[in-house]
Amino acid sequence: MQNLTHDEVAAKLWELNLELSPEIPYRLETLFPRIEGWFVKGKIKDQFKLLKRLEPLLTEILLDREEVQLVLPCNQSTLSDVFLMGSLWVGTSTCAVLVLTNLRIYCIRVNDTGVPQQSFWQIYYSQIKEVDQSLFGDTLFYLKDGRKLKYSGIVPEDQRRLQFIVWENCKTFRKQGFEPSVSQSREQVCGHCFDVIPPGVYECDSCGAQYWRPIEVGMRSFIFPSWGDFVMKHTTLALMELLGFTFIIGFTIAAFFEGKYLAGIILYVTANLADALMSVQLATRALHLKSTPFERPDMWSLTNPERLVQEQSEAGTGYEGYRVADAAEQL
Ligand SMILES: [Zn+2]
Repeated sequence: MQNLTHDEVAAKLWELNLELSPEIPYRLETLFPRIEGWFVKGKIKDQFKLLKRLEPLLTEILLDREEVQLVLPCNQSTLSDVFLMGSLWVGTSTCAVLVLTNLRIYCIRVNDTGVPQQSFWQIYYSQIKEVDQSLFGDTLFYLKDGRKLKYSGIVPEDQRRLQFIVWENCKTFRKQGFEPSVSQSREQVCGHCFDVIPPGVYECDSCGAQYWRPIEVGMRSFIFPSWGDFVMKHTTLALMELLGFTFIIGFTIAAFFEGKYLAGIILYVTANLADALMSVQLATRALHLKSTPFERPDMWSLTNPERLVQEQSEAGTGYEGYRVADAAEQL
């Protein structure tokens, strides 16, 4: 796919005074596919900034010898989201970054400024059946368990690179007969300890972190629209909802003043119900951290705090008991 070597790209980065963390193995020639030509300097710097924002997380989450091969910002949304919320709103809550390593693809939720949030997924290459493009230019992942994922906002050139890297890694997985066990093709990963959380579970077995259940955020948004989105940290979306809610309150009061009590109540309930459904939709799509073990008094009383701290730091670096740790060594 590319003719560049690692050293050529490294020399270019050095020339531009851009220094990536030496602790993270980067496949520079696929991360920076072009180093000469028009507007290339700006593109290299954009990519560099993106990597720098991810580095603190990557340092934590990557296993030994796990190499970062491709990083792509994108948007993750489904058609139903667009109908439910309008495409503008979707954009504020579905920014993501795909990180392709030699072991898996991470999908990391980021905020509007590209800073990672604590919602992750991972997909092993053994779980990918096909990567394709939709009629509208979106990237489609067909997974083994029948799930189809759609990512928009990836330019055709990057889509080709993505397809190439997926194909290359799938081939390596097949050749080695490497098929890590999973609970679903796209695994949810704990935002606190990075262990896998099976579908329908809202508490991490490994570290005790708790996640918002859809019903909990739905109830909050029904009582007070935008509340559910505030707790899930979809701040921009929540602020827009809050603005909408003040209008609804205004209309409701106006209706009451005119004596149209039923119309006022119907308007109020319908608007709140719509907001609650939207929050439920967002909560079922991703895990949203509610509390970490350090924030939970019940965990404090059950466990010696000092021991808990030690266990956390071990989990962060050693990944003790992690299912694929040994197998990953072979890659
Ligand atoms: Zn955890």
